[in-house]
Amino acid sequence: MLPFAPFSLEAPDTWATAHGLLAEPGARLVAGGTDLLPSMKHRIFRPGVLVSTRRLPGLRSVVEAPDGGVLLGAGLTLREVSRLPVVRSRYPALAAACATVATPTIQAMATLGGNIMLDTRCVYYNQPEGWRAGIGGCLKCDGSVCHVAPKGRGCYAAHSADTVPALWLYGAHLAFTSAAGPRTLPLDEMYQDDGIAWHLAAAGEVLTHVSLPPPAALVIHRKARTRAAIDYGFLLVAAARADTGYRAVVSAVGPRPIEVAGDTPEALADAAFAAVQPLGTHLQPAPWRKKMVRVEVRRAAEAL
Ligand SMILES: Cc1cc2nc3c(=O)[nH]c(=O)nc-3n(C[C@H](O)[C@H](O)[C@H](O)COP(=O)(O)OP(=O)(O)OC[C@H]3O[C@@H](n4cnc5c(N)ncnc54)[C@H](O)[C@@H]3O)c2cc1C
Ligand code: SF4
Repeated sequence: MLPFAPFSLEAPDTWATAHGLLAEPGARLVAGGTDLLPSMKHRIFRPGVLVSTRRLPGLRSVVEAPDGGVLLGAGLTLREVSRLPVVRSRYPALAAACATVATPTIQAMATLGGNIMLDTRCVYYNQPEGWRAGIGGCLKCDGSVCHVAPKGRGCYAAHSADTVPALWLYGAHLAFTSAAGPRTLPLDEMYQDDGIAWHLAAAGEVLTHVSLPPPAALVIHRKARTRAAIDYGFLLVAAARADTGYRAVVSAVGPRPIEVAGDTPEALADAAFAAVQPLGTHLQPAPWRKKMVRVEVRRAAEAL
């Protein structure tokens, strides 16, 4: 069993206290802890203070807007989100995506906010400290070389959050708060093509709500993974059909989800195939992953 390094846990019940704690060096926010705590055991992160979201006001609210949209608190668990009648009836692809994360027990702890803020993943990075030390670390943690693309200059760790492609196509906006005040950001502008600096939230910013407008189109969520439970997807797809044609968001193939469009399911699948350059993993060679992008996007579009 991997032990934790020493840390303290704070559970503030006011935003002023939370902002003060998060301004301290070495402080980090924790929600369900289902990703952060394993990463701490692996010494990927070494926070001295964890600031829990559990008692912060407003993070577990569900507010249905008069126009048919909904505001979801970032502290709702994935199980709660997947079971909300408003989500099941108006945003079924979000309910489906929550239900494909890990396992039911993890969904009962894991939060929507933690999923949206999930770190990018890589087989050379998500390993215990001793394993990583054996290869000298990597650009993303404790090293200076990328083992996936040694001649490259960047990090290609994959964005792997199941809920994000569906939220993207539903037009989600993210509400943050920090000591500097509140701000909102469209989810499709949140992520960057850099496995290390993969999101645009500032240090100390807390995601408080996810705002969904009334659904403008039917959305389908698909996840390809090695085993039907526990595993992260090696490919995440959401597809939507609008009056003007089809759109898809493809994820888990690089640091940033990629959006494509097409007039028909075939055209959409071709656009996705052309747009992505997945890297190989020890289980899935890169050419096969790329072919699966075409297959999964076409399946999603045809299901619409
Ligand atoms: C075995 C296993 C399998 C998994 N499989 C999947 C999978 O298939 N798909 C998937 O998407 N995930 C998977 N996960 C990862 C994880 O369970 C989920 O992504 C979960 O939704 C993370 O939410 P959390 O509340 O536990 O986040 P935490 O672990 O608490 O936090 C994750 C990150 O988000 C930050 N954070 C949390 N809340 C906020 C907030 N409100 N504002 C700003 N930052 C915040 C934290 O500081 C941390 O950096 C898996 C985890 C395990 C252990
Ligand atoms: S892709 Fe990123 S995490 Fe993976 S080895 Fe390269 S630098 Fe490290």
